[in-house]
Amino acid sequence: MQEANLLMSNKMLFEKAQGFIPGGVNSPVRAFKSVGGTPIFMKSAKGSKLVDCTGKEYIDFINSWGPMILGHAHTEVIAAMHKQVDLSTSYGTPTEIEIDIAKLVCDMIPNIDLIRFVSSGTEACMTALRLARGYTNKSKFIKFEGNYHGHADPFLVKAGSGVATLGISNVPGVTQGTAQDTLIAKYNDLAGVAEIMEANKDELAAIIIEPVAGNMGCIPPSEGFLQGLRKLCDQYNCVLIFDEVMTGFRVAKGGVQERYGVYADLVTYGKVIGGGMPVAAFGGKKEIMDHIAPVGNVYQAGTLSGNPISLAAGITTLKILNDNPEIYTRLEEKGSYLKNNISSILDKKGVAYKINQVGSMMSLHFNENEIVDYDSAAASDIDLFNRLFHHLLENGVYLPPSAYESWFLCDALTDDDLNKTLEAIDNFKF
Ligand SMILES: *Cc1c(COP(=O)(O)O)cnc(C)c1O
Repeated sequence: MQEANLLMSNKMLFEKAQGFIPGGVNSPVRAFKSVGGTPIFMKSAKGSKLVDCTGKEYIDFINSWGPMILGHAHTEVIAAMHKQVDLSTSYGTPTEIEIDIAKLVCDMIPNIDLIRFVSSGTEACMTALRLARGYTNKSKFIKFEGNYHGHADPFLVKAGSGVATLGISNVPGVTQGTAQDTLIAKYNDLAGVAEIMEANKDELAAIIIEPVAGNMGCIPPSEGFLQGLRKLCDQYNCVLIFDEVMTGFRVAKGGVQERYGVYADLVTYGKVIGGGMPVAAFGGKKEIMDHIAPVGNVYQAGTLSGNPISLAAGITTLKILNDNPEIYTRLEEKGSYLKNNISSILDKKGVAYKINQVGSMMSLHFNENEIVDYDSAAASDIDLFNRLFHHLLENGVYLPPSAYESWFLCDALTDDDLNKTLEAIDNFKF
């Protein structure tokens, strides 16, 4: 009792936060706007568990929206950062660790000749698009409805993630002039893409895609879809950009490219590549990457790009993943265990649902139809998801606070964590 008095409640903190920060949060989905209720203010985390400001523990299925694939506060990752902190936090000059992590990524992913590090997935995707435009000398590009590529203007047209969660159809501030170069296709609709390409063939710089979608829930590419996009891009001389900010180093060591055997011209990374620190990157064929300044004239820069502390976290995480492929086997097993057992529970209860799972990414949609694109995801019973979310939160299981976000599994999840999660789902009155 006494201890509880010393601690601020989530409600008190949220009220206070709203006095100084728009909506009380520094990224919209954190505000719980679509699920309702009060966001939880976290104080610490270790392994698979988050601890909030009142000391309550949660089994974490967000993992900071993807980066914490090894679990929170991993001993080796933390030690590497401590070591770097004592050597100063930033120099604004080249450092050796930048070569080490660049070489490691080029070793782990066969079609990355050159890679540049930035601080957010938004920057990585924004620059990849600029580079594709500079390289091809064309303006238009295709993106898919419900895909999210960060918050740069050209991508905020029919975007996924928080834009979908908040139901914003047109983002004020994105000009007509910018939006007119963004052509929208339906995910998994190859014929639709072919049509758009034929109609715009002299103007198309790029196709950008989440090659396994994760920002409208998890939606895998249908058979032949990525291969088809690869062929179309070759045919029309158009740059294929895989946005692997979410899937890179997660669905396989070499990301979607390795898992599905389709290779893009440019690839963006983020999340796992920084091991929980603000790191992202874009890379690809030398022929294209050579157009980036200072070699070429496509300009891109960053005061804190390649920050040594951030890269210490990133390289330690990537080395652990590279040296221990059994981590991916364990993540696959955890993903299927959760999927199979949630399916049994929901079958038993007679609830209409679809679970999409690709390794350690998954999502549960309350819908009787297959979830293959934005429209089918949006046709799900969001209200039922929101009620399940709050039931699980109460029972110490932290799902993403939106039906449009993927769940992320980490290597630190124990059998006990998974079984407790299943038990909590089983106890819910659907
Ligand atoms: C998270 C995400 C981004 C944006 O990354 P930030 O670091 O939040 O700017 C871009 N693309 C995809 C696929 C993402 O999941």
